[in-house]
Amino acid sequence: MSSTAQIGVTGLAVMGRNLARNFARNGYAVAVHNRTPARTRALVEEFGGEGEFVACESAKEFVAALERPRRLVVMVKAGDPTDAVIQEFAPLLEPGDMIIDGGNAHFADTRRRERELREQGIHFVGMGVSGGEEGALNGPSIMPGGPKESYDSLGPMLEKISAKAADGSPCVSHVGPDGAGHFVKMVHNGIEYADMQLIGEAYQLLRDVAGYSPAQIAEIFRTWNQGRLDSYLIEITAEVLSHVDTETGKPFVDVVVDQAEQKGTGRWTVQIALDLGVPVSGIAEAVFARSLSGHAALREASRGLAGPKAKALSESEAQAFADRVEQALYASKIVSYTQGFHEIDAARDEYGWDIDLGAVSALWRGGCIIRAAFLDRIRSAYDTRPDLPSLLSDATFAQEIADAQDDWREVLIAATREGVPTPGFAAALAYYDALRAERLPAALTQGQRDYFGAHTYRRVDRDGSFHTLWGGDR
Ligand code: NAP
Repeated sequence: MSSTAQIGVTGLAVMGRNLARNFARNGYAVAVHNRTPARTRALVEEFGGEGEFVACESAKEFVAALERPRRLVVMVKAGDPTDAVIQEFAPLLEPGDMIIDGGNAHFADTRRRERELREQGIHFVGMGVSGGEEGALNGPSIMPGGPKESYDSLGPMLEKISAKAADGSPCVSHVGPDGAGHFVKMVHNGIEYADMQLIGEAYQLLRDVAGYSPAQIAEIFRTWNQGRLDSYLIEITAEVLSHVDTETGKPFVDVVVDQAEQKGTGRWTVQIALDLGVPVSGIAEAVFARSLSGHAALREASRGLAGPKAKALSESEAQAFADRVEQALYASKIVSYTQGFHEIDAARDEYGWDIDLGAVSALWRGGCIIRAAFLDRIRSAYDTRPDLPSLLSDATFAQEIADAQDDWREVLIAATREGVPTPGFAAALAYYDALRAERLPAALTQGQRDYFGAHTYRRVDRDGSFHTLWGGDR
C-alpha cells in the first residue's frame, strides 16, 4: 500500500467517525481503522462519497497508509483502552511520528503517556475536543497540548476542521506542553457543569417562585439569548423547555426523571482544584447537585421535611423577578468563569505551562458546549491585561457585577424564603463577597488552630510567626 493518507483516525465510534469525515470533507486523505473492522467498513460504505478514505483492517496496514511524519488520531474510550491502543501502535511508529489522543483523557495520564513516548521520539499530543458528535463533524473546539513542534505540522489541519468564531478565526491553538490541552478541556467541562447548574437554578426559580410554565420559561430564555447571555447552552435550554412529550402531551421536562448523571470530568476539575488549593465552589456545587439528585432513596426519605409555603406573584412581580434572575445568572456565570480560569492559572504555575488565558477563551468561542458571546469579552479582558489577577479585576466585569449585585442578592433572598435550592447562585455570591471582604474569619480560624494545636499565626503589624501561651486546662 502506498502511504498516501495525511492523517489517520483509529476508533470509529460516534466521535472518531465524525472527526474522520470532517478531515475528509476538508480535502484530506484519511486512513480509518477500528478494533472491530465492521465499523471501518460501515463508515466507508456510508460516507465514502464525502472524501478520500483509506480503510485499514490491521494496525500494520493503518500505519503503512500514513505519510510521514505520521499523524495518528486515537478516538477510543478514555483510560485503559487508550493505553492498549498506544501499546499496539507505538512499536510500529518511527521518531517524529505523532499520536494524537482526542479522547477525554485525564491530564495526568496524558503527562505520563507523553513522557513515555518522548523516550521513543514519538510526539504525543493530548487533544481536548469539545462539541459532541455534531461538533466533531462540523467543527469542534480543539485544545491540543503536547510538543510545540507537533503543532507546526498538525495545526494547519486542525485549523481547517475546527469551528470558526464569529470573526472567522479558528477555535484551536496550541494550548501548552504535555497535558495542558486535556487540562484545559477538563476545566471547560467543569465550567460547563457550572453553567448548566446555574441555568437549572434559574429555571427552577422562574417556575417555583415566579410561577411560569416551561413554555413561558423557554420564551424568557429565548429573550435572554438575544442579550449578553447569548450562548449555546441558553439556546438549547429554550429548545428543551419548549419540547412537548408526544406520548403524554406534557412538557418534556416533566416526564424526565430528575436525576442527573455525569461522566467524571466535572469531578476531576474539583478534585484537581482541591489539590491545587483553588476555590472552584461553583463547579463543586454543580457536581454535588448532580450527585444529590441521584440519591433517590435519601430524597424520598426527606420529602416530608418542613419548608415554607409558596407565595403567588402577580404578573408584574413575576416579570420583575425574571429580570432579577437574569442579573443573578449573569453575575454567577462571571464567577464560574473566574474560578475556572483561576484553576488554569494555578496549573500554569504548578506544571510550568505557558498557557495563554486569552487564547483559551478565544478557542472556546465556537464549536464547544460553553460557546458564548461573553467569551469574546473574556478574551479582550486578558488581551488588555495578560496578568489579570482574576476576571473580577477587569473593570467591565466588575462594573457589570456591581450593577447586578442588588438583584443577585434579592434573588437569593427570595430563593431562601421560598425554599428553592440555589447552591450555584449562593456559592457564586459567597465567593464574590469573600473576595471583596476587608476581613475574613480566617483570622479566628488561625486563633483556634494556635489554641488547640500550637500551629502559630502571623500578625497584621509585624513579620514573623507567633504562638500564644493559651491558659486553662486542655
Ligand atoms: P466511546 O464509546 O467512548 O468508545 C468507543 C470506541 O472505543 C470504539 O471505537 C471502540 O472500538 C473503541 N475501543 C474501546 N475499547 C477499546 C480497546 N481496548 N482497544 C481498541 N479500541 C477500543 O466512543 P465516543 O463516544 O466516540 O468517544 C471517543 C472518545 O472521545 C472518548 O474518549 C470520549 O470520552 C471522547 N469524547 C466524546 C465526546 C462525546 O460527545 N461523545 C465528546 C468529546 C470527547 P470497538 O468498535 O471495537 O468496540
